[in-house]
Amino acid sequence: MNILAFSEDGKGLAGLTGKLKEYGEVHGVTLEGEESFCKGKGAKEITILKGKAMADNVFKAIKSLSPEKFDRIFINSTPLGRDIAGMLASDLNSVAVTEVIEFSMEGNSIKTKRFFYGGKTIMEEQSTAKIVTVQPGVFESPEDSGESKIEYTDLESSSVKILEVNEKAKSSTNIEQANILVSVGRGIGKKESVEQIMPLVEAVHGELSGSRPVCLDYKWLSEERQVGLSGKKVKPKVYIALGISGQIQHIAGMRGSKIVVAVNKDKDAPIFQECDYGIVGDLFQVVPKLTSAIKS
Ligand SMILES: Cc1cc2nc3c(=O)[nH]c(=O)nc-3n(C[C@H](O)[C@H](O)[C@H](O)COP(=O)(O)OP(=O)(O)OC[C@H]3O[C@@H](n4cnc5c(N)ncnc54)[C@H](O)[C@@H]3O)c2cc1C
Repeated sequence: MNILAFSEDGKGLAGLTGKLKEYGEVHGVTLEGEESFCKGKGAKEITILKGKAMADNVFKAIKSLSPEKFDRIFINSTPLGRDIAGMLASDLNSVAVTEVIEFSMEGNSIKTKRFFYGGKTIMEEQSTAKIVTVQPGVFESPEDSGESKIEYTDLESSSVKILEVNEKAKSSTNIEQANILVSVGRGIGKKESVEQIMPLVEAVHGELSGSRPVCLDYKWLSEERQVGLSGKKVKPKVYIALGISGQIQHIAGMRGSKIVVAVNKDKDAPIFQECDYGIVGDLFQVVPKLTSAIKS
C-alpha cells in the first residue's frame, strides 16, 4: 500500500508515519524546520515544504506529488491539515473520514473510531475512504525505524494577503511537557481549594492541570491547563486525578499517561477503570497524607 501523510508539525508526522509503516510505504510531507522530529520515524521519503505555508500553496505542493496515485492519504487534524483534507477530498472527488482516534486497514477497507454525538459516544465505521484526518497526539512518535530520504520543495507564493496579525497571549505553562501532572476535577468544590492541592504539586515537582468544568466552566484554573477531548492531550509519566469522575472526554486527553493514580470518594467512579492505583476517599484527607508520605 502506498500512503501519503501530511502534518504541519514534525512530531505529528512522526506519530502518523510510525503507525502507518506497518501498512506499506509512507511518503511524508511537512514544513521546513520540522525535519529532525520526523526523520527516520517510518517514512521512506519526506518532502519538506520551504516558505510561508498557507492552505492554497501547501495544497498545490501536495498536488504536485500526484495524490491520486496513493492508496490512502492521512492528515494530522490541525487547522491547516483540516483545510488541506477538504481541498484534497473535493479535488480527488473522494470521501474523507475525519477526527479519527484509532484505525486499522485491510485491503481497500479501513475501520475507524471517532467521537460522535458531541463526544458522548465513540462510533466505529468501516469504509473505503481515501482521506483520513487523525486527531493530533493519538499516536506516539516511534523509536528510530530506518532511513528517510529527505527532499526539499519551495512553496509557491500564496494568494492569501495577511492584513493584520494579532499575537495570541503566550502560555506560561505547558502541561503537555510535564512529567508529572496533578489534575483536579469538580470534586475540589471551589477555586480556593486549589491552594490545598499545591503542596502535593510541589512535592512531586509536577504541574497542575484540570478537567473541563474546572478550567472552562468555573475558571478555577486557566483554560491552557484543561486536559481532554477539547483540551490538551497529555502523556505524563504520572497522572494524579483528584476528584475527577473519569468521563470519556477527559480520558481521551490522558489515556497515554504511564501511571495513573486516582482519588475519588465514589468507589464506582469510572476513573477507577482507568487507573493503576485508586484511593477511595475524600481528597482533602488523602492529599495531605500523600504529600507528607512523598516528602518523607
Ligand atoms: C464535546 C464535549 C467535550 C468535552 N471535553 C472535555 C475535556 O476536554 N475535558 C474534560 O475534562 N471534560 C470534557 N467534557 C466534559 C465531560 O463530559 C465531563 O463532564 C467532565 O470531564 C467532568 O468533569 P469532572 O470529572 O471534573 O466532574 P464530575 O463529573 O462532576 O466529577 C467530580 C468527581 O469528584 C468526586 N468528588 C466530589 N467530592 C470529592 C471529594 N471531596 N474527594 C474525592 N472525590 C470527590 C465525585 O465523586 C465525582 O466523581 C466534554 C464534554 C463534551 C460533551
